[in-house]
Amino acid sequence: MSTKPFVERSRWPERHRYDQGVSDCLFCKIVFDEVPAERVLESQRTIAFRDINPQAPVHVLVIPKDHYESAAELADAPDGLLAEVVSQAHSVAVAEGIHVGGYRLVFNTGGHAGQTVPHAHAHVLGGRAMAWPPG
Ligand code: AMP
Ligand code: ZN
Repeated sequence: MSTKPFVERSRWPERHRYDQGVSDCLFCKIVFDEVPAERVLESQRTIAFRDINPQAPVHVLVIPKDHYESAAELADAPDGLLAEVVSQAHSVAVAEGIHVGGYRLVFNTGGHAGQTVPHAHAHVLGGRAMAWPPG
C-alpha cells in the first residue's frame, strides 16, 4: 500500500513540511483541495468557507492556511497572522451583509469550548440575533 502523502510535501509551508500530523487534519485538506468546501473569500494566507453544519443564517469559518492548533498558537504566529484572520472575518461579514446588524466571532479553544477540529478557525456567525450567554 502506498505511503505517499496526500499532497506533495514541497507544497506544505516550511514549518510543517515534515509534520505528519497535519496530513490527518481536515482543514489542511480543505486548504489543499483534498476536501471540498464552499469558499467565500481567500487571501494569500487565509481561507474563508461555509460551515457544513451552519448554526446561523451566515456561518463561515476563517482559517490560516498554515496549521496552528488553536487561537493561542495563532497569536504567536509571525507577521500578524491572527490579525489577518480577524480582519478577513470582518471582510466576510461585509461580503455577507451582516456587519451592520452585527455578528459573532468565536474561537472555540479546547474540549470544554467544543473545539472539534484542531486547526485554528474563527467562526463568523450572523444573520440573526445571538443569545448571551452562549450554551
Ligand atoms: P469547532 O467545533 O469550533 O472545532 O468547529 C469546527 C466546525 O467545523 C464545526 O462548526 C463543523 O460544523 C465544521 N466542519 C466540520 N467539517 C467541515 C467541513 N468538511 N466543511 C466545513 N465545515 C466543517
Ligand atoms: Zn491543519
